[in-house]
Amino acid sequence: MPISDAFAARLEPLLGDLVAAYGTPFHVYDAAGIADTYRAMTDAFAGEPFRQYFAVKALPNPHVLALLLAEGSGLDCASPVELELAAGLGAGPGDTVFTSNNTTRAEFELALKTGSLITFDDRTALDRTDPLPETVAFRVSPHGLAAGSRLMGDAQATKFGVPVDQLADAYRQAKARGARRFGIHGMTCANELDVDRAARAATDVVELGARIAEEVGIELDYVNVGGGLGIPYRPGDRPVDFRRYAEAVLAARRAAFPRSAPRILMECGRYVTGPHGVLVTTVVNRCGKGREIVGVDASMSALMRPGFYGAYHHVTLPFAHGRAQAPYDVVGSLCENMDKFAIDRPLPDPREGDILLVHDTGAHGLAMGFTYNGRLRPAELLLTREGDVVEIRRAETYDDYVATVPDRPGPVLPAARHA
Ligand SMILES: *Cc1c(COP(=O)(O)O)cnc(C)c1O
Repeated sequence: MPISDAFAARLEPLLGDLVAAYGTPFHVYDAAGIADTYRAMTDAFAGEPFRQYFAVKALPNPHVLALLLAEGSGLDCASPVELELAAGLGAGPGDTVFTSNNTTRAEFELALKTGSLITFDDRTALDRTDPLPETVAFRVSPHGLAAGSRLMGDAQATKFGVPVDQLADAYRQAKARGARRFGIHGMTCANELDVDRAARAATDVVELGARIAEEVGIELDYVNVGGGLGIPYRPGDRPVDFRRYAEAVLAARRAAFPRSAPRILMECGRYVTGPHGVLVTTVVNRCGKGREIVGVDASMSALMRPGFYGAYHHVTLPFAHGRAQAPYDVVGSLCENMDKFAIDRPLPDPREGDILLVHDTGAHGLAMGFTYNGRLRPAELLLTREGDVVEIRRAETYDDYVATVPDRPGPVLPAARHA
């Protein structure tokens, strides 16, 4: 869907001047939209023990993360670098969750040192960790849960989490090693727009947590229902009614835990920042080759989702009012045929020099970027609540592209060592 009316109303009046002054391409994010979305989430859980940890991987720009931390958000990290980023921003013990997969002992040690709430993705990870963290949590595999939820892939083929039938043993094992505090994690949907299905997925985790806690004889400090709430990428999609979602999750918690009130944690990424970002490009090429092609000055390296998994991102030309609509392919410059932002998309006769916006790039956008073909990643700008546009990451340059290459390679294995 087009970005929110509020963001459009803030961005459109300054877009012409901004592009004239700064050039394209760039992503621009709306600080007010991000903070307001976060606040609406916490408001929906007001008075209840709840915390949202922003999934760093969705938009790992330190300035956006700092903004969220200042609002009271925690951060969800999945790698040592993300932990370092969070620590560098002053995230203290308890401000981060560490929900990783295929994790080494060294990574767990770092997570322990930073005071993260750790989720174990399998039982062997628990074996490898000594001492145990103060609170032990396992991620339950999507297997058998919320079967109706789309996009998490084949539950049987998942690499994530502990299978349901091994979960009680996993907690027993932790208990036998002296663990006294426990949590549970489950993320069983992705980009889910149907609020009932999303609530059902969370409810499954809450109910499973209660059953396991009873079976093993432990109390749960928290239930982390993960991320995975969707955003309306397509015109006509409706946003998730977060209040209704929160009410359903709290009702499930009250029913499943009549005597205790474990905290509800979430790790949304896309829902918080996705709709509050736009990729701003310029049309640099128009041609017909059986298909009508619109070439822009950004590539899949700035936004991988459409080319990678056919994801829909809305495209608009803010200054092309009144032109006749016809279908076009919107393409970048990579030597890959999948480098297309849109296929057969009705657009108002794009012309060279037009500004073209790709919407909803606030999550899993630049973060998934790469530098194939030497098409380097563009800048990130932030529209502040005060109305300034600030550069929060410059565009990459040739020097960045070769920064990891030494002028004179030194031997890592001298010939003498293997002669
Ligand atoms: C990717 C991921 C998230 C965030 O997903 P969104 O779709 O951006 O909400 C949260 N938790 C875990 C474990 C993830 O892998």
